[in-house]
Amino acid sequence: MIEITCPACGEHEDLRGERRDGEVAVVCGACGASFVRDLTPRCTACGSEDLVPVPTNLLEDAGRGEQRAPTGIVDRLLCWECGATDATASDATAAQGDWRARRADLGLDRHRRSSWD
Ligand SMILES: [Zn+2]
Ligand SMILES: [Zn+2]
Repeated sequence: MIEITCPACGEHEDLRGERRDGEVAVVCGACGASFVRDLTPRCTACGSEDLVPVPTNLLEDAGRGEQRAPTGIVDRLLCWECGATDATASDATAAQGDWRARRADLGLDRHRRSSWD
């Protein structure tokens, strides 16, 4: 969860939020200011909002010589701008090398966006 801070007074605890589609209307209990917080996820590495969900197998290590069995599939967010995998993680880092050349070969449908709720 990204910390929300009142843009008027800097309060970050006494805030009340009301969720609407894709954003949260927040009222500051300290100064009464109201503001809207956008819930659009952003890449931690470069700040881009252009993130692509990539289904990723979670593999269970079955031990030496055995097949690794998928234990589930999660959508990891790949940053289309810089190539960071798991782009909303706090330690996301941009892809090394020429990401823009490589991303064309990934065959990802960059317009397939999951719902963020
Ligand atoms: Zn305030
Ligand atoms: Zn990025």
